[in-house]
This record gives sequence, C-alpha cells and structure tokens, in this order.
Amino acid sequence: MKSSAADSLDRIRRQIAGAEAETGREPGSVTLVAVSKTFDGEDIRPVLEAGQRVFGENRVQEAQRKWPELRQDFPDVELHLIGPLQSNKAKEAVELFDIIHTVDREKIARALKAETEKQGRNLRFFIQVNTGEEPQKAGIAPQEADAFISFCRDELGLPVEGLMAIPPLDEAPGPHFALLQKIAGRNGLKGLSMGMSGDFETAIGFGATHVRVGSAIFGSRT
Ligand SMILES: *Cc1c(COP(=O)(O)O)cnc(C)c1O
Repeated sequence: MKSSAADSLDRIRRQIAGAEAETGREPGSVTLVAVSKTFDGEDIRPVLEAGQRVFGENRVQEAQRKWPELRQDFPDVELHLIGPLQSNKAKEAVELFDIIHTVDREKIARALKAETEKQGRNLRFFIQVNTGEEPQKAGIAPQEADAFISFCRDELGLPVEGLMAIPPLDEAPGPHFALLQKIAGRNGLKGLSMGMSGDFETAIGFGATHVRVGSAIFGSRT
C-alpha cells in the first residue's frame, strides 16, 4: 500500500511531463493537485514523503480533521478546496485553504472577500464553470461566466487566477476543456483547473495548468 501510492505518484508525474512535451507545453507548467479526499493521514503521508506538496480536498470539515496534523510535519503544503462551498463555511475555508477552485455565485464570492480581508490571508481563487450546464452540478453557467468573472475580479477585487470545470461524466471531455479555455482566454485568465484521473492528459492538451488527480494516485475510493 505505502509504496504503491508513491509509485503511482511517480507514474502520474511522468505522464504529466510526457503530455507537456507532446503538446508543446513548457516543462513544469502543469501543477499536479493530488486529491486526497476520503483518504486519511496514513494514506496521505507516503505521498507527502515522496515529495508531493499540493493537495486537493472537497469538504471543509474533512480537511479540518486531517490537515492541521499533517501540516505540522509538512508546513509547506499547499491545500486546494475543489468541492462546493457554503457561505457559512467561508471562515473555516479561508483559515485552512490556500486556493479555492469553486467560486460560483455572488454570495460566496462576497463571503470569501470579507473573510480574506478579516483574516489578512492571501488566498487565490478559481471560478467554477458548469460547462455541461448540468442542473445538479455546481458552477456558473457558461453564458454568465464573463459577467461573473468581471464581478469577482473588477468589482470585488478578488484575486481570480483562473477557471475550473468538471465535464459531464457521460460526455467526451475535450469540448468542455476547449470551452473553458476559450472563456479563460477572452477574459485574460491564465489558470485552467481541469482534468482528473481519466482525462488529465487530454486536459493538458487544452491548456490545463492544474490537474486534479485522485484515484490514479491513492486508489479507488470506497
Ligand atoms: C474527486 C475529485 C477529483 C479527482 O477525481 P479522480 O477521478 O479520483 O482523479 C477531481 N476534481 C474534483 C472536483 C473532485 O471532486
């Protein structure tokens, strides 16, 4: 178990480097976010020991249980929130996370702005776009994205670094990655958080700067 997560990490890193080379991307231009949701400290430690420092979690409370202790031993960890956020959790999220990928409505954007100021924390933010316009999925609708980006960045002054999307499970991801890339490009945003275990190499071809890989590193979630 222990060596296998580290081996998987090594394999994913090589696949990322390969995809960067194949698609003409700068070496090292893609950040691997190791998604450790549902896995506990014991499973995460070997991956930390193998040198990984960027991790993603999708629930604030679960991350609060696991990461303060791990961070005592690995203080340079960078923690990304990749799951939906309720505004009543904004305080805890701003305390714990360095980057939030799931800003998708005015209420949460305002709450995050207020909390970062109150706490004097310099977080970075991605706006989640619901590229498949799926009713059950979080994210701003593609046709509302330009206005929402402008609201967050220009009106609120939130440091928006890029866009994030989770393509529909039952569709080819390429067109969704292309759409996210297009919206980011016309808004002058550099960051693209897209691509998971099954499709991160495809996402790199469409300009992903952050790939969020869970099961391909940690194994399947029960
Ligand atoms: C769980 C999750 C991932 C990782 O998914 P894998 O298929 O296990 O790589 C990526 N992004 C988000 C938003 C997730 O919730």
